[in-house]
Amino acid sequence: MKLSNVVDTLRPAVRAMAGYLPGEQPQAGKFIKLNTNENPYPPSPAVTSAITQAANSGLQRYPDPLGTSFRIQAAEVLGVSPDCILCGNGSDDLLTILTRSFVAEGQTIWYPTPSYVLYRTLAEIQGAKVAELPFESDWTLRVDHLEQDAPPALMFLPNPNSPTGTVLSPEQIAAIAAELPCPLVVDEAYADFAPENCISLIEQCENVLVTRTLSKSYGLAGLRFGFLIARPEVINELRKVKDSYNCDALSISAATAAIGDQDWFIKNRDKVLETRQRLAKGLTNLGFQVQPSQANFVWCNHPSQSSFELYEQLKASQILVRYMKYEGWGEGLRISVGTENQIDALFAVLESLIR
Ligand SMILES: *Cc1c(COP(=O)(O)O)cnc(C)c1O
Repeated sequence: MKLSNVVDTLRPAVRAMAGYLPGEQPQAGKFIKLNTNENPYPPSPAVTSAITQAANSGLQRYPDPLGTSFRIQAAEVLGVSPDCILCGNGSDDLLTILTRSFVAEGQTIWYPTPSYVLYRTLAEIQGAKVAELPFESDWTLRVDHLEQDAPPALMFLPNPNSPTGTVLSPEQIAAIAAELPCPLVVDEAYADFAPENCISLIEQCENVLVTRTLSKSYGLAGLRFGFLIARPEVINELRKVKDSYNCDALSISAATAAIGDQDWFIKNRDKVLETRQRLAKGLTNLGFQVQPSQANFVWCNHPSQSSFELYEQLKASQILVRYMKYEGWGEGLRISVGTENQIDALFAVLESLIR
């Protein structure tokens, strides 16, 4: 029989999904972008020279499939063995590899809500079910009181969380891991902005894996580079699932240079932390309820103003922030920490909108 419509032959799971909707990336440079948690500061100058050098030394060859230069450099910075590191084309690539490796069709993925919206998309692609675990009012998370009719095959836990910026301590995360019959992926996309992280849990807990990205704290969202930290025996298995050459030669060189320039990283991170404090304080002074943030953004809402209207009014003034709404939980604005000048501009507009 002749095929009349290719689209009808897609897997039903793919037909049914809406697809992940990333934050707006306007082409023209006229917006102040405070909507996707990019670093307002550029990456280390060492990155540009590393890319130029890599571009001039053999692009006709395939890249190192394991990104060895990066793993050695990152291992030194983090105090782990290079065998504990798997490189990815952004940390989203690693989240995909983890989902494909641990979750069979029909199994269940757990993650908290409100949190990173991509986890649901990954589950949908895989034909997996999801259970969303609501945070308690003090931003802790309970996993012990869930009905066990669908035990999880994998749990994602962003820490610091997005969109709220709130954190769980490594001790709290170890306690959650101990309750789970599955791996716990601590998504540390924002951990460089927080005082604590979960890298030491890799040794301490059998089932903890950690993902990191250079997109936010290293100012390299455009490059696409992330990495996973886990026990070597887990890394060896996940290598079978990744694309053979999931990171290209230019990004491996650039990422190695970026993580090698810790002075540049610390200088910019400290500027972001200072501005975060000012942003949170200024919003509070304008009457916003602001969650305490350990990331490079703050989550807020205003008791007497619609978050969506504020988002639209700011956009009309060329300032993009992220409006987010979670069914059954609430809505608000996630505002990324920008430069001091960008935050000046934000406050100038907000002051005129909020009376
Ligand atoms: C930004 C973000 C990522 C993705 O980072 P990439 O390395 O750019 O793919 C992963 N998890 C969370 C929670 C994020 O906010």
